[in-house]
Amino acid sequence: MTHPIRLGLVGLGKIARDQHLPAIAATEEIELVAVASRNATAQGVVNYADLGAMLAGEPGLDGIVLCQPPQARFDAARMALAAGKHVFLEKPPGATVSEAQALAALAAHRGTTLFAGWHSRHASAVATAKAWIAARRIQQVVITWKEDVRHWHPGQDWIWEAGGFGVFDPGINALSILTEVIGEPVRLIDAELETPANRHAPIAARLAMATAGGVPVAAEFDWRQTGPQTWDIRIEADGEALCLSHGGNALTIDGVVQDTGPEAEYPGLYRRFVELVDEGKSDVDLAPLQLVADAFLRGTNRIVAPFDA
Ligand code: NAP
Repeated sequence: MTHPIRLGLVGLGKIARDQHLPAIAATEEIELVAVASRNATAQGVVNYADLGAMLAGEPGLDGIVLCQPPQARFDAARMALAAGKHVFLEKPPGATVSEAQALAALAAHRGTTLFAGWHSRHASAVATAKAWIAARRIQQVVITWKEDVRHWHPGQDWIWEAGGFGVFDPGINALSILTEVIGEPVRLIDAELETPANRHAPIAARLAMATAGGVPVAAEFDWRQTGPQTWDIRIEADGEALCLSHGGNALTIDGVVQDTGPEAEYPGLYRRFVELVDEGKSDVDLAPLQLVADAFLRGTNRIVAPFDA
């Protein structure tokens, strides 16, 4: 298609301001034309209260990026796809696997691009880790994703509600890296979830998984970590150990720090979106979402102390 891609953004909240607006501004092939948000406005664009008003007011839009919480994703995506727009979904691509699959089918039917973005897959060390794994026989993967929910998600009630994912909101980022680098399907074997007595989503989770080839993968997600924050994936292979840390933006191999370049997750996502639109393709990989869904399906849930923000 001809550039720039005229884009409308929905849900002007934390991630839209922190990452999407700067990444869009730095992407030559995209022009942000309008924003739809109930309680916020952006400068230098046309603002609307909701997606319906934006679609009616801006018939020339080519694409829509959806940055709301997952519970609001499906209805908005369906409306945008039905209007013939290319759609970029923030992670997770839906509150359920089946709704994300329905969107993929709708996009295919309409002939528009649907992009389920996984920002952590664009972290600076991920491609190097993937190449390292591809050249080895791996024996074990251990994921440790521990952060302080009070610091990272203040006032986000939706994250504690059904469909908000709780600790899987960050945990799914680890699973998106895992399923990108590992090179084979990963299955969920078992899970233990801990849910505060006054909330509907877990504050901690432990997952036992395995690759199709039988390599064990353990993951521990915890939102109660104060002090240093941990977003690590450790992979052992042939007597060597690779550690992806800082959410995939730092890398050591046998303790030796590797040069991975600057962090550029969201510019990478927008490059991919432009590429998909240009090629007339979609990219909807639901493997990380499926593992989370399976943890809820197969796991045991323990009620723990109430969480007060
Ligand atoms: P947020 O700031 O709480 O929400 C984004 C905006 O969505 C809100 O400000 C709200 O704007 C709009 N919205 C529409 N429907 C809503 C609803 N039912 N409940 C609450 N807000 C609604 O959240 P966020 O941190 O930006 O996260 C949004 C998405 O980005 C999530 O899927 C999250 O997993 C993903 N994400 C977040 C981060 C991060 O660091 N925060 C990082 C990567 C990805 P209006 O009220 O103005 O409509």
